[in-house]
Amino acid sequence: MPAVKTQSSVLITGVTGFIAAWAAEYLLEEGYIVYGSVRDETKAKELQDRFSKHGGNFRLVKVSDVREKGAFDEVARKVDGILHIASPFHFNTQDSKKELIEPAVEGTLNLLRAAAQSKTVSRVVITSSFAANMQKFESPHTYTEDDWNTISTEEVEKDNTNAFHGYLASKSEAEKAAWDFVKNERPSFDLSVINPVYVFGPFIHPVKDAKSINTSVGMIHATLNGKEIQDEGPHQNYVDVRDVARAHVRALQNEEAGGRRHITSAGPFGNGQIAAILKKNFPDSKVQEPKKSDCPDFGFPVKSLTADDLKIDYITLEKSIVDTAKALQEKF
Ligand code: NAP
Repeated sequence: MPAVKTQSSVLITGVTGFIAAWAAEYLLEEGYIVYGSVRDETKAKELQDRFSKHGGNFRLVKVSDVREKGAFDEVARKVDGILHIASPFHFNTQDSKKELIEPAVEGTLNLLRAAAQSKTVSRVVITSSFAANMQKFESPHTYTEDDWNTISTEEVEKDNTNAFHGYLASKSEAEKAAWDFVKNERPSFDLSVINPVYVFGPFIHPVKDAKSINTSVGMIHATLNGKEIQDEGPHQNYVDVRDVARAHVRALQNEEAGGRRHITSAGPFGNGQIAAILKKNFPDSKVQEPKKSDCPDFGFPVKSLTADDLKIDYITLEKSIVDTAKALQEKF
C-alpha cells in the first residue's frame, strides 16, 4: 500500500524553488492536492497560472521563513504527506552558521514539530543532498547511503566564512537533526530522505532575471555565456531535476522508502563534457575552451543501495544540459 495515496493532500515547502516546482507539477498531474509554502506570494503568480488547469488543487501557504515558530502547524493538520524542500542553497555569505546552517537545521526541526502534532501526516520526505554524504578519503572510495559528511562541520568551525563547507554542513546537520528527531520523538509519520547530486534541467519556477537563477542552473548559464571553466575530468555527478522531482513523489508513495536515504544520481560529469555538449548543440553560444586542471579533493563514484526502489529511468547528461540551455534561452 502506498504511504501517501493519490488524491490526498501534500505540503511542499518552498514551492517557488527549482526542484519543488517540478515536484508540485508531478503531484498535481497525479491528482494530489498541493499546499505550497512560499515566502513571497507575488513570486508564486507564474506557478498559479501554470497550475490553474488543476482547479483549486494548488493552494498557497505564506511562510515568511522556515524558522518561523508554528508557521507549519495549521497546514500540517490538513495534509497526509510533506515534501520538505526549502533550504538555502547559495554560496553568497560570509556567515555560514547564521545564513546557511541555522535556517537549514531550525527550518527542518520546525517543520518536523508541526508534522508530529498533526494526526494526518504519515510520511515526510526531506530533500537533503549528496553534500551530506561527501567525505574526504585518502584512497578511492565509492559513495553509498552509508557515508556521512563530517568534515564540513569541522571546516566551518575553523572558518565560518567558508560558504562552500557552510552549505555542505547545512545539509548534513539538517539531515542528522531530522533522523535524530524521528528516533527520539517517535512520531506517527516516518521519514524518507532524498540525497540528490548536482541537479541540472529545465526550470519552471519563477526566475526574475539571470542573476537570481538557482545555483546549479546558474552554472550552465555562466558556461553558456562565456565564463572561463576548468576541466577537472568527470569529478562530480549529475541528475536531472525532473528525475529528482519524480524521486520525491515516489518516496512519498512507496512504502519501502520509509526510513531510508536515497542518493539520486544519473552518473558522472565534468565541466569539459558540459562545455562540449553546449558547443555542439549551441554553436553560436560563447562557450569557452575549458582549461586543464587537477582533480579537486573529492572523488565521486556513487553506488546507491536504495534508489532502485524509486524506479527512476535517468535522463542522460546531454538531454539534461540541452534542455537546461533551451529553458535559459527561452527565458533570457
Ligand atoms: P532553489 O531554487 O534555490 O530553492 C530553494 C528554496 O528554498 C526556495 O523555494 C527558497 O524560497 C526556499 N528557501 C530558502 N531559504 C528559505 C528560508 N529561510 N525560509 C523559507 N524558504 C526558504 O534551489 P533548489 O536547487 O531547488 O534547492 C532545493 C533543495 O534541494 C535545497 O534543500 C537544496 O539544498 C537541495 N539540493 C539541490 C541541489 C541542486 O543541485 N540544485 C542538489 C542537492 C540538493 P524562495 O523561492 O522564496 O527563494
